[in-house]
Amino acid sequence: MDLKVPFSDKDEAKRLGARWNPQRRVWYVPPGVDPRPFARWRSGQATDQPYRIMSREAYLVTAAEQCWRCKQGFQAIAFLMSPGFILDEPTEGGGRERLADWGFAEYITRLSPEAARFAQGVQPAYRQGYSRTTESRYWANHCPSCSALQGDFHLYSEPDGAFWLAEPEDAARMQARPLPGDFRADADIALGHGDAWRIPGVRATRPSSGRPFGPPPSPRSPPSPNPILGWLRSLGRGS
Ligand SMILES: [Zn+2]
Repeated sequence: MDLKVPFSDKDEAKRLGARWNPQRRVWYVPPGVDPRPFARWRSGQATDQPYRIMSREAYLVTAAEQCWRCKQGFQAIAFLMSPGFILDEPTEGGGRERLADWGFAEYITRLSPEAARFAQGVQPAYRQGYSRTTESRYWANHCPSCSALQGDFHLYSEPDGAFWLAEPEDAARMQARPLPGDFRADADIALGHGDAWRIPGVRATRPSSGRPFGPPPSPRSPPSPNPILGWLRSLGRGS
């Protein structure tokens, strides 16, 4: 596999295992070497690089949001990944990690075309946009009325954001629908959403395949009555 390595990066590419072909005057990844650490130097084919996160079970979640600029209400969308989703860090020191928590994908810089189509089918104003706050471009909610970008920080990390999820009541404000396929994206992850399974629609049947994801986890039940304690109490009452 050939690489486009700028002169300033050549020492790093070499250290990672790339080799120089003096005849063709090109850096390349020799057979048997993991190509993922070289993703940033691959020419052209950006779309076939592995995605940073992948979830076999994922949901498109909608919730009501109010535009910060024109104050119109609209349905914001988010991608929710279920426990077991995979984080793949192709950088040095990274690796493949399976996460045990629910997570929202935030600051999505690359989104699989299938997931993008599905999201835009639900909310056509969802698209890539440039945020002046973060000075970066990512897949963001936009107001359908005035097209203002609605920042991910507000949506996920502020208590009045649409996808703030701290209490069971927050989950009740949202609606989830299963994605028809895997979710793949380059994105950050907003973790710590233990109540995400409470969102209506989570663990519902996947529409295309009809395969259920499995039974919902049972809500925390009160501690089961201790039979011996009950027996002791009945003795006490009897005397
Ligand atoms: Zn607006």
